[in-house]
Amino acid sequence: MATLTSSELTNVAKEFGTPVYVYHAEKISEQYQKLTNAFKKCDAKIFYACKSLTNINILKHVLSLGASLDCVSINEVKLGLMAGFAKENILYTPNCVDFEEILEAKESGVNINIDNISILEQFGNKFAGSYPVCIRLNPHIMAGGNFKISTGHVDSKFGISIHQIRHIGRIVKTTGLHVTGIHMHTGSEIKDINVFLMGLSVMFGMSEHFPKLEYIDLGSGFKVPYQPGDPETDVDELGKKVAEAFAQHEKETGKKLQVWFEPGKYLVSQCGYLVVKANVIKQTPATVFVGVNSGFNHLIRPMMYEAYHHIENVSNPNGTPRIYTVVGNICETDTFAWDRTLTEVREGDLLVFYNAGAYGFEMASNFNSRLKPAEVLVKDGEAKLIRKRDVFEDLLKNQII
Ligand SMILES: *Cc1c(COP(=O)(O)O)cnc(C)c1O
Repeated sequence: MATLTSSELTNVAKEFGTPVYVYHAEKISEQYQKLTNAFKKCDAKIFYACKSLTNINILKHVLSLGASLDCVSINEVKLGLMAGFAKENILYTPNCVDFEEILEAKESGVNINIDNISILEQFGNKFAGSYPVCIRLNPHIMAGGNFKISTGHVDSKFGISIHQIRHIGRIVKTTGLHVTGIHMHTGSEIKDINVFLMGLSVMFGMSEHFPKLEYIDLGSGFKVPYQPGDPETDVDELGKKVAEAFAQHEKETGKKLQVWFEPGKYLVSQCGYLVVKANVIKQTPATVFVGVNSGFNHLIRPMMYEAYHHIENVSNPNGTPRIYTVVGNICETDTFAWDRTLTEVREGDLLVFYNAGAYGFEMASNFNSRLKPAEVLVKDGEAKLIRKRDVFEDLLKNQII
């Protein structure tokens, strides 16, 4: 398994300072290989969900592996095109955007996934069958690690309900829309492959309404381990079952469909490390705090999703294990980990947060007028800066003085 060692991470911190995000290209390649291998018996196409980590150097690396790209905003589409992805290998899956943005995506020639009735109608009225579209459906399957990251439930804003299929049908018929794909994405961190298989069976049912269908997009939500003992979505088993289901469907209907996936976390979660420095050790009546030179402005997942990120003290790996509360320097409750056993932490030690590739830097902000960290890509044993650390002037860049 491709990992960066403590000494490699320490060297990056020495060279580029902290806090710093470090990404390991070989790990992304390894995850991509695992996926393509799992789905080799399907006619599958893998779209990297780039909202998880959009640095253009990461996009270029993913492109070099042969992946396509899933984008949720017009700016991601532009970044993808700039990175070199062909327009037919980009899928644009926006939610609640202005029709103007959809028009811009159409101008660029990428695949468009429409997720509400109003836009579907406007698109159909304007372009009829002249531009193919995909429709995002809500299969009403409750899934995912946490309500905040579930998107398939009845209260979700995403997709068009499968119960509105007759309404969709009327729009498609009256406008002559050319529907080549249907899509679902029920959430993140789904360990039970039956969620995908149930979704697929719903999608097969829906596919009867679209005679020109070419693909079914099953979205993503593949889970990777965040802590020892955590399960990972069994993509090999899923690949086997999906291949069987598509073969069966082809036998029954004579239709040969492609299957598309849009993994984010699966490809880039484990490739990433956030290296920070312990600023202060603070003993209180309740606990021992380690205050680090980062915060939820750099890695928001623990505060936002109660996510667990494994932490190691790479400066004192053989120290006595002690229990700490690891917190950031933001003036608000800013906890990375409660009651976490770490080898003894001294002021100045380097701590590493694991699984920091997906939704780490991407969700960073300048809250408290603090600067965003640098990003470094390690490839073939060589560490390269791929984003400069913010400087003070960046805070004022768009302010009118
Ligand atoms: C966020 C998102 C993904 C990726 O989800 P992961 O859990 O990171 O794999 C895929 N498709 C769509 C439409 C998304 O919004």
